[in-house]
Amino acid sequence: MIELIKKLPKAELHLHIEGSLEPELMFRLAKKNNIEIPYKDVEDVRRAYNFTNLQTFLDIYYAGANVLITKDDFYDLTWEYILKCVEDNVIHTEIFFDPQTHTARGVAFETVITGIKEALADAKEKYGITSCIIMCFLRHLSQQEAFATLEEAMAFKEDIVGVGLDSSELGNPPSKFKDVFKKAKEAGFKLVAHAGEEADFSYIYEALDLLDINRIDHGVQSIKSAALMQRLKDEKIPLTVCPNSNIELKVFADYKEHNIKELLDYGLNVSVNSDDPAYFKGYINQNFINLIENLPLTEDDIITLVKNSFKSSFIEDELKEAYLAKVDLVVQ
Ligand SMILES: [Zn+2]
Repeated sequence: MIELIKKLPKAELHLHIEGSLEPELMFRLAKKNNIEIPYKDVEDVRRAYNFTNLQTFLDIYYAGANVLITKDDFYDLTWEYILKCVEDNVIHTEIFFDPQTHTARGVAFETVITGIKEALADAKEKYGITSCIIMCFLRHLSQQEAFATLEEAMAFKEDIVGVGLDSSELGNPPSKFKDVFKKAKEAGFKLVAHAGEEADFSYIYEALDLLDINRIDHGVQSIKSAALMQRLKDEKIPLTVCPNSNIELKVFADYKEHNIKELLDYGLNVSVNSDDPAYFKGYINQNFINLIENLPLTEDDIITLVKNSFKSSFIEDELKEAYLAKVDLVVQ
């Protein structure tokens, strides 16, 4: 089954580009930009990647992002992730970035998006990898600050397909961002939101009813409500599930406890994604491998998960069909 996982072309729909910052690049950029980081060496960083919940991860994640200053830094960050895509046979990726993490440090929105965009253009040219960019609002900040970020993004509207909502979930429900999501929708952005990872399933209802999202990021807590499960199934709402992340942040005690097989068996549109792979011990293939080693997933389940990622992507239908045909070619 591992061979099948490696061979299958995949799409990734839930990946924070800042979360693909490997310790080696963190050190290289810290040195180049003269930024102090609280670690002695690469091993010291890896030792620090020992989280007890979402917030303990976020504290380290934001400290790591401080080393990203120039356009080239964002290019290098994105390019390194693209090389992992090549390794793992990811042929389409929809990446998140957090503009506020950088603009708050005086790094211009344009610097961030230009670096990311140029690397993605090169990925298309060199490897044929397609992609799009989703900008996330940090939910621990205010809606007013999200409005200011949306305003800034309008100058780069051509480069950004959607907006999302990430960072500290508990205590920052989707309802807090109702008005800014409405404005983003009116401006033509696709909408996604992290919901039902650490917080309960009421956050998923809010994301659906108040933000009118196209996809839920995580959503694993939906299993606690039969009515919500039925609705997600009826409305075919995609859930971008991130197994390694859920284990590393203690949403589930271990992989054997993960509910992805139950969500899938119920008929929900779930996919597998790597979230913040540099911090959560592995890219997309490793997520699949951890699942098959611990859960009774069949080859058909793997194929369904992979097809779901293409079906739930924001690419045009023609390209979707072409990608699904590529999957069929491997499994025939
Ligand atoms: Zn995420």
